[in-house]
Amino acid sequence: MNTFAPLAAARPSSVFVPAFDAEAARRDFPILATPVIHGRAFLDSAASAQKPMQVIDAVRRCYEAEYANIHRGVYELSALATKNFEVARDKVRTFLNARESSEIIFVRGGTEGVNLVAYAYGDKFIGEGDEIILTYLEHHSNIVPWQLLAERVGAKIRPVPIDDAGELIMEEYERLLGPRTKLVAVTHASNALGTLPPVKQMIEMAHAQGAVVLIDGAQGAPHLKVDVQDLDCDFYVFSGHKVYGPSGIGVLYGKKAHLLAMPPWQGGGDMIETVSFEKTTFAPPPNKFEAGTPHISGATGLAAAIDYVTGLGLENIAAHEHSLLEEATARMRQIPGVRIYGEAKNKAAILSFMIDGAHPHDVGTIFDHHGVAVRAGHHCAQPVMERYGIPGTVRASFALYNTRHDVNLLIEAVDKVKEIFK
Ligand code: PMP
Repeated sequence: MNTFAPLAAARPSSVFVPAFDAEAARRDFPILATPVIHGRAFLDSAASAQKPMQVIDAVRRCYEAEYANIHRGVYELSALATKNFEVARDKVRTFLNARESSEIIFVRGGTEGVNLVAYAYGDKFIGEGDEIILTYLEHHSNIVPWQLLAERVGAKIRPVPIDDAGELIMEEYERLLGPRTKLVAVTHASNALGTLPPVKQMIEMAHAQGAVVLIDGAQGAPHLKVDVQDLDCDFYVFSGHKVYGPSGIGVLYGKKAHLLAMPPWQGGGDMIETVSFEKTTFAPPPNKFEAGTPHISGATGLAAAIDYVTGLGLENIAAHEHSLLEEATARMRQIPGVRIYGEAKNKAAILSFMIDGAHPHDVGTIFDHHGVAVRAGHHCAQPVMERYGIPGTVRASFALYNTRHDVNLLIEAVDKVKEIFK
């Protein structure tokens, strides 16, 4: 069990010292003790985070003692499984501070959430000559569904460029926004550079033009306190596997008015009110968008993951990750021949870099031999790479279970690469 110190009481935030014991948290993650990763630095949590015992236990408990199909059963076990599924939905509602749990739709992940909105909202409300604003920071999963929509309906994609530091050029955003803008889709945190765009301001500006906004929270939800009411976003998506939960489960939040106005995007069981060959009527949201048997154990696991991170305190986790990012960044900057990509003022704990003369894939392989697991390549964000004219980067991403030891291993691995390529 993780034992962590309570939050330091009522200290002014400028001198706030996060009370977070990463060493204790590591003990919650059994995989970190297995031979394949023990003693090594796992710095690829932005791709997918490891799972604490609390999540593994919840999934096992679901299958061992509380499993049946949900919603349709008239027997006790099905009622129990249904209750757990709906409790999980309400937990997500609290996590995002949504108004109602009917605004929370379970999907396979962030990607499916974006696709759902592109089909169900996009096909109905976006048409010929309308414009969709994206940014150069987006992951492919927040680009391609909009391109497919644009092709279907004859809309145009307008991307907001970034500057050398990886910040969105807000003057360009302002210039692109206009009466033809129907939707803005922007990441809460860039997976390639770590940039945190000023999403609240962007939402306000989009709303002033009558456009709706989708926030891709795949990298936001694991690191930032999300409040969809305060953000006032129209849609928010995230993936369970990046918040220490199971893969194959994710969330789409949508404002109720939108969800009521949107048609279903997939048909099947559980999303209907009545079916006949003459006419079928649909269930209200969220069921309208959840055709078929959902990922029942995934929802339970996601609820346990939410309990886990909120128990540790998202602010504590973020402060811990940030201190590792700062240390790693400062040390990297001192190494000649290392170039950091993404120096935005506000960043998630992601460090993207290149080492002179070495291809990112070679760096990744050499790092692996020296006990450091990172991602190398374009990170499914090719427009960012194109912006810098590079094939990809090496990306180290920090999670709650990383420590200064991992930073030391990372820096040592950079030295090894430099020795090989000197
Ligand atoms: N957006 C961002 C910013 C991401 O980092 C990712 C995953 N790498 C996604 C969307 C897609 O998430 P998933 O693959 O879990 O659907």
